[in-house]
Amino acid sequence: MGTHSSGTELYPAGRLDQAAAAASRAGIGALLLTPGPDLRYVTGYDALPLERLTCLVLPATGSGLDPFMVVPRLELAAAQASAAGGLDLELVPWQETEDPYRLIAGRLTAAGIVDAVGSPDTIGVSDRMWAMTLLSFRHELPESGILLASTALRGMRMRKSAAEVAALREAGAAIDRVHARVPGWLRPGRTEREVGTDIADAIVAEGHVRTDFVIVASGPNAASPHHDLSDRVLGRGDAVVVDIGGTMPSGYCSDCTRTYAIGDPPAEFTAYYAVLKDAQEAACAAVKPGVTAEEVDAAAREPITRAGFGEYFFHRTGHGIGLESHEDPYIVTGNAEPLEAGMAFSVEPGIYPGPHGARIEDIVVCTDDGCERLNDGTRELIVVAG
Ligand code: ZN
Ligand code: ZN
Ligand code: ZN
Repeated sequence: MGTHSSGTELYPAGRLDQAAAAASRAGIGALLLTPGPDLRYVTGYDALPLERLTCLVLPATGSGLDPFMVVPRLELAAAQASAAGGLDLELVPWQETEDPYRLIAGRLTAAGIVDAVGSPDTIGVSDRMWAMTLLSFRHELPESGILLASTALRGMRMRKSAAEVAALREAGAAIDRVHARVPGWLRPGRTEREVGTDIADAIVAEGHVRTDFVIVASGPNAASPHHDLSDRVLGRGDAVVVDIGGTMPSGYCSDCTRTYAIGDPPAEFTAYYAVLKDAQEAACAAVKPGVTAEEVDAAAREPITRAGFGEYFFHRTGHGIGLESHEDPYIVTGNAEPLEAGMAFSVEPGIYPGPHGARIEDIVVCTDDGCERLNDGTRELIVVAG
């Protein structure tokens, strides 16, 4: 399996410095990153979010303070054994009787990054920091301005490195292998939940460390884009939207939708499915550097609207994907951000007129002159025997 993305390529040691420079450009004195995708992106450390504080303190470039990571004493060994242990990063264990928030505030104050007497300093906190953690920081740093860490990090996280693209490619191949097995599980008389259990098991069996979501939306449920699973029994003539994803050992996510039919679906369904397939194709064809996110959305919407189904495509065309299954950039009207090589996102138009619906979703990555699809399974309607 020589193609596996290795840890140091995916999480290079230089990220700490790059993130510190990004913080400086964003006017942030220090980033405070607790367990979650931002911490993993910067250090490679996949720490569990718990009530005991683990926090990377990453001062902006030029602040004179070296980065350090505060960890509960009982997790020191785990932190040392993680990717973060291989970085040039001081690990600061705290004992059960100590206050780690005070410890961090004390170091930031001593370095002059924050100032207890009212100067307008700014810290950047993980977007997914727990409210209880944030309020504890607020208590220790009452005068500091607080921004989301993404103010500094989103530009980095949106532009995937070659190793990140390789990790997303592995994720795409893994979820494609699951979809390839789905026709065997779709049988009249089985419930959505039974099929969903088979799929969840397969997501892990095909290489993910966990299943993030399983949507099996059959018959009228297919008209609800975020339906998950129910006890509805599959029947002949059903269209079934199957939207599934998981997280790989690398930390990177998969997300892919295919629409299946059990026996022959209604004629009007087959007609708009063809429109949907054209729309998904048109949106992928529109992707290249310089094209804006909203132009890709418009490219998906145009054929659907022209065919008279515009009101039944009532969600954005896509979302970025990486260490999170939904992240920047969002492919939506109003996002005039131009695409750049390395941006990875879903292209997933849907048509939901009821009493059935359909969606086709691939993850794509913007390349120097177009896009690469990271999902490969057929986009034709997959009709299984009814
Ligand atoms: Zn969704
Ligand atoms: Zn999806
Ligand atoms: Zn998606």
